[in-house]
Amino acid sequence: MIVIKNDLCDFCGTCVSVCPVDVIELYEARLVIDHEKCTECLKCVKVCPVRALEIQG
Ligand code: SF4
Ligand code: SF4
Repeated sequence: MIVIKNDLCDFCGTCVSVCPVDVIELYEARLVIDHEKCTECLKCVKVCPVRALEIQG
C-alpha cells in the first residue's frame, strides 16, 4: 500500500490532483489515502516533488 511520510509532505496537493480514482484527501492538515479504493497506479508516488509517498508491502 501507499505510505505517506508526513514529516516530508508539504501539502502541495499535486498528488491529490493526479490520482485517477480521487482517493487522496487533505484532512485536518494530514494527507489521507483510501487504501481500499487505491489501485496502486503509483502516479502519486512519481509526481511527489519531495518523495513523501512510497509503496510498501
Ligand atoms: S497509487 Fe494511484 S490510485 Fe493510489 S493513491 Fe496514488 S495515484 Fe491514487
Ligand atoms: S505531492 Fe507529495 S508533498 Fe505534495 S501533497 Fe502529495 S505527498 Fe505531499
